[in-house]
Amino acid sequence: MSAKIIDGKRLSQEVRGECQARAARLAEKGTQPGLAVVIVGDNPASIVYVRNKAKACSETGIYSEVHEFPENADQDEVIGRIQELNRNPGIHGILVQLPLPRHFDSSRVIESVAVEKDVDGFHLYNIGALVTGSSIFPPCTPNGVMKMLEKYDIPIEGQHAVIVGRSNIVGKPMALMLLQKGATVTICTSRTRNLSEHTSRADILIVAAGRPCLVTAMMVKPGATVIDVGINRLPDGKLAGDVDFESVKEKAGYITPVPGGVGPMTIAMLLCNTVVAAEQAHARLQGN
Ligand code: NAD
Repeated sequence: MSAKIIDGKRLSQEVRGECQARAARLAEKGTQPGLAVVIVGDNPASIVYVRNKAKACSETGIYSEVHEFPENADQDEVIGRIQELNRNPGIHGILVQLPLPRHFDSSRVIESVAVEKDVDGFHLYNIGALVTGSSIFPPCTPNGVMKMLEKYDIPIEGQHAVIVGRSNIVGKPMALMLLQKGATVTICTSRTRNLSEHTSRADILIVAAGRPCLVTAMMVKPGATVIDVGINRLPDGKLAGDVDFESVKEKAGYITPVPGGVGPMTIAMLLCNTVVAAEQAHARLQGN
């Protein structure tokens, strides 16, 4: 049996179309959604991500601006710029591209973003809201995964979800969102003993470890839904996920490809969060 492919590219176009329509409606009322991206240093992957985000904004009718700082930038100067953006009424979302250089305290920089503009959902307030199940801006990558499960009618309640990876931006918020929807959740890390014992019990397996080919067919339950969050640049320049796609697709029920899976959904969810932030700002202006 060959798995059904979850087409993140197609689905992201659908979500982006909805965002575009909402952005246009808002612009007609006088508020064009605006996103500011702050990038420090010249990490090649970050530069590509920022470029892709800016392009996606312009295709969706969202104004965007990029604030670039050199690798040796002063943290207070960056925070100062974020505070200016917090006060700027034309900017509804602020995104700090991670990772920041080593001499930065990433938490301090993220906490300097106004909660109502935290479209990445990494501010402590938004993380806390996620814990209590009332998030305003759910983090984009796990939210994109949830959208995929929803759109493909993959049941979550009562299912056993296993997540490989416990980062603050993917693994942990992913676990909270699945828990909120009634899944039984297991989180595995690099310290987990006998990883395959856990992964092979998953109805929904989400892999976000950053290790190419970490998950092979023998680690997957027949018919499982396998979501590959990993993006790894191989020595030959090609992109690969964390899942051995060719073997696993013969055993899984559903599977996401890399590229064309979770990646495009992450950007689509960022656009959604930015439109929501702009809608909320517009409503505040109207006194609603
Ligand atoms: P991270 O390095 O912060 O965290 C990786 C996690 O994986 C850690 O918790 C670690 O314990 C775990 N891990 C590592 N090796 C393991 C192993 N052998 N067995 C079990 N667990 C292991 O990474 P991250 O920021 O969460 O990103 C993970 C991957 O997802 C990366 O490839 C990244 O590029 C990708 N990513 C993709 C998107 C997207 O939009 N598709 C977004 C964010 C991250």
